[in-house]
Amino acid sequence: MTKPVVTRFAPSPTGFLHIGGARTALFNWLYARRTGGTMLLRIEDTDRERSTQAAVDAILDGLTWLGLTWEGEAISQFQRAERHAEVARGLVEAGKAYYCYCTPQELEAMRESAKAEGRPPRYDGRWRDRDPSEAPAGVKPAIRIKAPLDGETAIDDQVQGRVVFPNKDLDDFIILRSDGTPTYMHAVVVDDHDMGVTHIIRGDDHLTNAARQAIIYGALGWDIPVMAHIPLIHGPDGAKLSKRHGALGVDAYRAMGYLPAALRNYLVRLGWAHGDAEILSTDEMIELFDLAGIGRSPSRFDFAKLENLNGHYIRSTPDAELVRHVETVLDHIGPTGADLKAKLDEAMRAKLLAAMPGLKERAKTVLELIDGAQFLFAARPLPVDERAAALLDETGRSALGALLPRLDALPDWSAASTEAVVRAYAEEAGLKLGKVAQPLRAALTGRSTSPPVFDVLAVLGRDESLARIRDAA
Ligand code: GLU
Repeated sequence: MTKPVVTRFAPSPTGFLHIGGARTALFNWLYARRTGGTMLLRIEDTDRERSTQAAVDAILDGLTWLGLTWEGEAISQFQRAERHAEVARGLVEAGKAYYCYCTPQELEAMRESAKAEGRPPRYDGRWRDRDPSEAPAGVKPAIRIKAPLDGETAIDDQVQGRVVFPNKDLDDFIILRSDGTPTYMHAVVVDDHDMGVTHIIRGDDHLTNAARQAIIYGALGWDIPVMAHIPLIHGPDGAKLSKRHGALGVDAYRAMGYLPAALRNYLVRLGWAHGDAEILSTDEMIELFDLAGIGRSPSRFDFAKLENLNGHYIRSTPDAELVRHVETVLDHIGPTGADLKAKLDEAMRAKLLAAMPGLKERAKTVLELIDGAQFLFAARPLPVDERAAALLDETGRSALGALLPRLDALPDWSAASTEAVVRAYAEEAGLKLGKVAQPLRAALTGRSTSPPVFDVLAVLGRDESLARIRDAA
């Protein structure tokens, strides 16, 4: 029987959950889902200077918003330091690693002479076979792995294929520093083993680490997990992803009004393909995701594509769910959002829900939904933008004046009944419908574009609509 799949996402909490990290997490999550396995979360917080609790919180928050769940509690790498040290000492006892008493000055001299001779800076192995009795007094040693001196280390990567590293390029690197703390390289191996990780899916910037990690696995006699190193995300111009290109935290995508489902869909296509399928629901992704579909060349981040995809998801998301997304986003866009949120009581929520079919047709992001919904929140007298002001000229205002008593006389107030009144009036007055409907829109929303104006009348209701028309007329 094959072991159940265990994947892991292992972010370093030195900043937000950036978009590349989110994609790595998504791939691990999908692979675990696909295979009926589990995804674990490990916070690689051994760098005490740079790791912060705020970053941990941002990572957990970003994953949760994206809908990527992990099994059990997040594991802190730092808290496992004693275990890392114990394994390193065990390797010394087994003759697979050794204490190195080099001083920083000696190491510096080693680097200098390598440089002078045009060699890459490698540890020269001077303590590898030296008798520990020669250890200088009072010097705390580091532990170095005994790396193979010749031959090669190969990684059979699921994405990159077989990648071969000549062992002469991999020196006896440190696994436990002289202060007793593990190096990143060593901690990752011990943790992945102890967590029962079967598949490592991560960015290909870790590919050379994989070779060093394979040496540690070999020394410990542990099985190397299946590895899949995914090409990094580049900008649209092919250069390394910069902030301008979208190298932002997941929280920034939330604040820009992207839906988690759209971002998942966009991210899965960023480096993975199933034929030419572009739109994939999360269930479809789970059904289809595989390591074989991950491409070998870097993918390019394309905001326009994300935006189009998001528009698609907005149109196909149920109205009530969009109202909830609006509420979430209002919490993340500063004072303007907080102001609107304060006004979002039960009645306002009902109006927003009623307006949603019209709003979602013209919005590509939740921010655009919010912007389109401004007229619901606005207090009288409405702020009127320039174009709307132009519509409220003499002719426009007189049309509104004529409409008022007719609308007021309506026994029932609905999109259909108000539309009938407006059409009848336009016909009588010999005006094109737009000549009446546009000033009406300006009066009701303060803008020249909005959801269909009869829907606006229905959503605002009789009293508010008539009051706004009166203000403008
Ligand atoms: N902590 C590493 C990073 O954030 C990932 C290490 C790994 O996946 O093995 O890049």
